[in-house]
Amino acid sequence: MSTRAVIGGSVPERKESDSRKLLLRLREILAAPGDGQARLDQITHHIADSMGTQVCSIYLFRDPETLELCATEGLNPQSVHKTRLRLGEGLVGRVARSGRHVNTADAPSEPGFRYMPETGEEVFSSFLGVPIQRVGERLGVLVVQSRDVRQFSEDEVYGLEVVAMVLAEMAELGAFLGSSSDGMPLQHHFPIMFRGGTGQEGVAEGRVWLHEPRVVVTNPVGEDPQKEKARLGEAVAMLRMTVDTLLADHDMGSGDSAEVLETYRMFAHSRSWLRRMEEAIDLGLSAEAAVEKEQSQARARLESAADPYLRDRLHDLDDLSNRLLRILTGQGRDTGAEMPVDPILVARNIGPAELLDYGRRLRGVVLEEGSVGSHATVVARALAIPLVIHADRITSEALNGDEILVDGDMGIVHLRPEETITKAFHDKMAMQAEAQKRYAGLRDLPATGTCGTTIQLYMNAGLMADLPSLESSGAEGVGLFRTELQFLARTRVPRRGELAALYSTVLENAQGKPVLFRTLDIGSDKVLPYMKPQDEPNPAMGWRAIRVGLDKRGVLRMQLQALIRASVGRPLHVMFPFITEMGEFEQAHRLLMEQFAREQRLGHEVPTDVRVGAMLETPSLAFAPKKFFEMCDFISVGGNDLKQFFFAADRENERVRRRYDSLSTSFINLLEQILDRCAEARVPVSFCGEDAGRPIEAVTFAALGFRRLSMRPASIGPVKHLIRRIDLNELRRVLDEARERGDTNLRPAVTDWLARH
Ligand code: PEP
Ligand code: MG
Repeated sequence: MSTRAVIGGSVPERKESDSRKLLLRLREILAAPGDGQARLDQITHHIADSMGTQVCSIYLFRDPETLELCATEGLNPQSVHKTRLRLGEGLVGRVARSGRHVNTADAPSEPGFRYMPETGEEVFSSFLGVPIQRVGERLGVLVVQSRDVRQFSEDEVYGLEVVAMVLAEMAELGAFLGSSSDGMPLQHHFPIMFRGGTGQEGVAEGRVWLHEPRVVVTNPVGEDPQKEKARLGEAVAMLRMTVDTLLADHDMGSGDSAEVLETYRMFAHSRSWLRRMEEAIDLGLSAEAAVEKEQSQARARLESAADPYLRDRLHDLDDLSNRLLRILTGQGRDTGAEMPVDPILVARNIGPAELLDYGRRLRGVVLEEGSVGSHATVVARALAIPLVIHADRITSEALNGDEILVDGDMGIVHLRPEETITKAFHDKMAMQAEAQKRYAGLRDLPATGTCGTTIQLYMNAGLMADLPSLESSGAEGVGLFRTELQFLARTRVPRRGELAALYSTVLENAQGKPVLFRTLDIGSDKVLPYMKPQDEPNPAMGWRAIRVGLDKRGVLRMQLQALIRASVGRPLHVMFPFITEMGEFEQAHRLLMEQFAREQRLGHEVPTDVRVGAMLETPSLAFAPKKFFEMCDFISVGGNDLKQFFFAADRENERVRRRYDSLSTSFINLLEQILDRCAEARVPVSFCGEDAGRPIEAVTFAALGFRRLSMRPASIGPVKHLIRRIDLNELRRVLDEARERGDTNLRPAVTDWLARH
């Protein structure tokens, strides 16, 4: 795709002197004392005058769904602060929703036209409306109208967009605040709710901490176009240099980021991008405002672009524009602002290493992008920080220090919440705290049902930061230690010594409780920054986990050596991920034993015992020869992957992810068969997918025969609480009866029984 397709079309000619005069006038208005209303009134007057139209009106958002007429030249002044439109309603609402201009010679016959009698606008036929927006943040709509039936020229459209850009910057600088008693809508003041998705459950209250602080442009209008162009030219040259250096420094083996950098270079060197910004400067914008104008338009296109490739490229352009703005304004990421004591991180996206840097200081995280299986999500889970993903546009709306409530259970965020919302939220937090207290009381008690059966509750971990939970949650051990996080959070392969030291600290912290280390599970969604990504059509079923380990034996060998060295004098538990066939387990097992023998040959001390297990994550393994089960010291069912392959439903795909239930009779039958095969071979089996941490699923698995479940530390309390109150034998009868009856899903039977007990 050409840079031009992303950057946009050509710039029309424009009477530069008129436009510059108008912008300089706006700048004077901004500099002069006066309240917001007075400024807006003057502005509409000057714009109508400069454009030669009878009407100029400014509509601003009263709340995220409502636009309000805030100033007008030419319409009935009585309608100011009275006329309101819903987003998408009428032509004004259409401009606001789409982020694109509407230009028509015959407004009343336009689809969606809404007649507002109080304004007296019926006599005006021509209509030109442009969005007032600043890098993705919708602020309002600027409209000119005239009596004569005419289409506005491309020059006029472009000119009005430039003016709207300056208005957006003025709004950002607070130029329209402190107004008359009519009560101007205050940007960044109204409460907004974002409906996203759950990344990690939990609720948190705090203040916004923006990962990338907003760039403030204090001079939207440029006095001397030559000077502004020279500033822009210098900044672009510097940007090109930075990108070239990044590319040169970059390890060329690592495909993914190299490709992104190549795209950056293409944009940074794009003539049409530079030319469009220079044209905006000619019309009177400062270099910064010109960059933002282009960026705003790219963002508007990004929102409507369905093609994922185009969206990615528009994101690249957006990142590059941010870099350019930071060069021009001299504003780095570090603005000197102090992080609040209760920070909730708000970002478009964040890498695992950066999130780890913030660590447990954060109360919560809200991302515009992200996905349930992204590395950031994995880290947030490990840190037990509530995370909401897909909170669309939150980085445009939130300001550092804003009050914010994060409901990770529901995937909802309240920014600058109203009191009633805060109260309801506090009630929820109090209830959860109450429940936590109850669970804490159970910490040292066993998860024994009223029937006398005891279930071992283990926790999943992946970071050193997880280890304190071993004590606080009362987990009996770590049933799954995901080792990939140490690999993901680095820019190079970690060294054996580093890993051995880390694993050894983990074991020390575990104070004798068992820790089941899973060897590196990469590939699929977990791509190491320094590994050449494979261009696979279906990475979840591609070159991943043990398949990579057996093909790239050097890394697996090194990791096994590190595990052996870390476990000297203690028992070592290793499990291999994503075993699909017995042969893979045999090879991995042999590799481990070879490393063990090598250590002995070298005269090194070795672990007191080595227990080797397999993760059962593909249906095929449930049908493996009996010998496979006999070879394993233990088996761990990786329910997340097993479920996705059993139902052929991508665990990352929001559309299908929740479609199939773990309590469907067919999945339960599969689990039962796995339990039977393990029992036949007398090999212990546990369940360590996410479902193990959901109380209803957990008791069902326990009733079915699982005697060990491994889950997030926070789930241990709720699961133990439920197990201790029920008779697992009785629940087993309920399951059997439901299957006997031919129920296709056992959930109704289980929940019904639980409700009655
Ligand atoms: C699983 O697949 O259930 C599992 C525990 O592994 P992961 O979620 O790391 O793929
Ligand atoms: Mg898995």
